[in-house]
Amino acid sequence: MRPKIKQSNYNMAQSINTKCVQAGYTPGNGEPRQIPIVQSTTFKYNTSEDMGKLFDLEASGYFYTRLQNPTNDYVAAKLAALEGGAAAMLTSSGQAANFFALFNICECGSHIVASSSIYGGTFNLISVTMAKMGISVTFVSPTASEEELNAAFQPNTRAMFGETIANPALTVLDIEKFAKVAHQNGVPLIVDNTFPTPVNCRPIEWGADIVTHSTTKYMDGHGACVGGAIIDSGKFDWMAHADKFPGLCTPDESYHGITYAEKFGKEGAFITKCTAQLMRDFGCIQAPQHAFILNLGLESLHVRMPRHVENGQAVAEFLASHPKVEKVNYSGLPTDPYYSIAQKYMPNGGCGVVSFVIKGGRAGAEAFMKKLKLAAIETHVADARTCCLNPATSTHRQMSEEQLEAAGIPAGLVRISCGLEDKADLIADLKQALED
Ligand SMILES: *Cc1c(COP(=O)(O)O)cnc(C)c1O
Repeated sequence: MRPKIKQSNYNMAQSINTKCVQAGYTPGNGEPRQIPIVQSTTFKYNTSEDMGKLFDLEASGYFYTRLQNPTNDYVAAKLAALEGGAAAMLTSSGQAANFFALFNICECGSHIVASSSIYGGTFNLISVTMAKMGISVTFVSPTASEEELNAAFQPNTRAMFGETIANPALTVLDIEKFAKVAHQNGVPLIVDNTFPTPVNCRPIEWGADIVTHSTTKYMDGHGACVGGAIIDSGKFDWMAHADKFPGLCTPDESYHGITYAEKFGKEGAFITKCTAQLMRDFGCIQAPQHAFILNLGLESLHVRMPRHVENGQAVAEFLASHPKVEKVNYSGLPTDPYYSIAQKYMPNGGCGVVSFVIKGGRAGAEAFMKKLKLAAIETHVADARTCCLNPATSTHRQMSEEQLEAAGIPAGLVRISCGLEDKADLIADLKQALED
């Protein structure tokens, strides 16, 4: 049941560019150059004894694709290499990745401290759905002081959570500060690193313990497949906080009394438990076909991200100088409140997503978007084609102007995800759409 593919035997010294292209899969003599798609639900064994060893987590190998598949493991190994982690797994979506990452160490009665500036889907997951499982949350401002962060912790807190660059607020997380407070309180920091990707930021290098992704975004990069991933740094010492993490530090009766943190150590415990228990019971596995397509995206991630950043920066600068634009949120602008922190964590830029407030509120945004020719109206971000969204007339249309304002989403706010087109064409499109 443990992955056959050793996830940590990559060359740490290699550049992220080389890892994007080659990490995770090294074919042997005469084997396929490209990652094979193992299109099989099940795997054959010669004896029941052989299979028994897999079920006991005694031997490495595969038995059923609901839990694990070699194609997924090749791609997960690449993601572990990219983030500098010890082990990784793919999930069917980013939502499943964040749920699994949290639920692997939380149970009924646990508590989470989370940044309030996170993706709406994750906010609902934690504040509504996980609340029904008896898991409570305290939301904190991403700009809270150490004292304020510490004050949010309770004896039953089991994890701290935030997004490197939040979708859609575009706030930037002070990863070192959050990691310090999490560790002072004996819990891991989980960081959703979807927007910058490991090409622009590697949270584990700044103290994060577990990294999650919606691979649906830049990693796939072409709007082709929904997917997610969890990468474990292998650094958090579960046994040092055994009272908080009984799931990792006491015997699992559903696996013949195995204690994950003892048997698989710091490097293997989290991902092995997440696979053996949560994948077994919830089955949110990524299809091997999707893992293959995801890998095609990863092979060019290091080439695409700088272009997304270049286009995002150019569009943000153009919008900031336009008289019809009230405000621009983009951490690459020196006037942005997150500029200096973004320079620290992402010196090569963050991502291609920009948001701005257009004069004239909801009607102004609607009129502007109707005129766009290149930028398509979509509930999506982070792929090759530029797209945009006005929350007030789409995802948040049930809210009044006052409610929108209170939520920090003014009616005239437009989120634009800059794709890989030529920046001059993108700016020309925005310019004509902003004309009267
Ligand atoms: C999109 C997104 C998610 C959810 O991912 P899905 O793949 O759509 O399930 C989670 N976190 C962030 C930051 C996202 O942008």
